[in-house]
Amino acid sequence: MTSIIPASSKGLGNDKNASPDNGQIANTSKISERIRARFVAGGVSFLANDNISEYIQPGELQELEVEVADRVRELLQSLLIDIHNDHNTEETAERVARMYLNEVFKGRYQKQPKITSFPNVKQLDEIYTVGPITIRSACSHHFVPIMGNCWIGIKPGTRVIGLSKFARVADWVFSRPHIQEEAVMILADEIERLCEPQGLGIIVKAEHYCMKLRGVMEPQCTMVNSVVRGVFRHDSSLKQEFFELVRQQEAMLAT
Ligand SMILES: [Zn+2]
Repeated sequence: MTSIIPASSKGLGNDKNASPDNGQIANTSKISERIRARFVAGGVSFLANDNISEYIQPGELQELEVEVADRVRELLQSLLIDIHNDHNTEETAERVARMYLNEVFKGRYQKQPKITSFPNVKQLDEIYTVGPITIRSACSHHFVPIMGNCWIGIKPGTRVIGLSKFARVADWVFSRPHIQEEAVMILADEIERLCEPQGLGIIVKAEHYCMKLRGVMEPQCTMVNSVVRGVFRHDSSLKQEFFELVRQQEAMLAT
């Protein structure tokens, strides 16, 4: 379960220099270096909150899991934890690798869940809201949890999607390292692309564990932000209707 190649801290270029005399670089380098080479060659963005599934080939995620576990094991050793004698942390590296790649950051590595949109044959044009949708994410700065709720408001356009699909796409978008402000924008872009609404509003209220667990240690502090698109942006009465519907949904939960 360990990598053949020694850890390299400087990425692809470093590896090339390390093996100048054979043509097998692509086969002997770390899997992350081989995938990263595709990003670089294609000029592709691979920021923490980007989805990179298109550039990962079948079987590579399993290889990546082995490599990440190797790096986490080194991290634990650098933290001076005796992983060879401590039964609690013996397999922590493998667990953390699986957790990052398959759970908390799955929205980077997995393709968007299949979401079918349908023509809006009844020409529905009344505003509706969906929520609260639970969001689980991690802050890009500290990799600690962001937990909260999201409400999505739609004034339908030419296409519609099922209500449960909003929760699926939100989970996919939020399951990446994020800052909340950008997460909301990315979710709005995806929903606009999926169902082309006349109006779209999203509100996110979340607790940031980098403020609760560390730093200023403010346990009650939350962050609320919103984005409005289309007619919600230009028509203040529609925007107010969206916010009022969300208030009503919250009030229903409180009773
Ligand atoms: Zn943070």
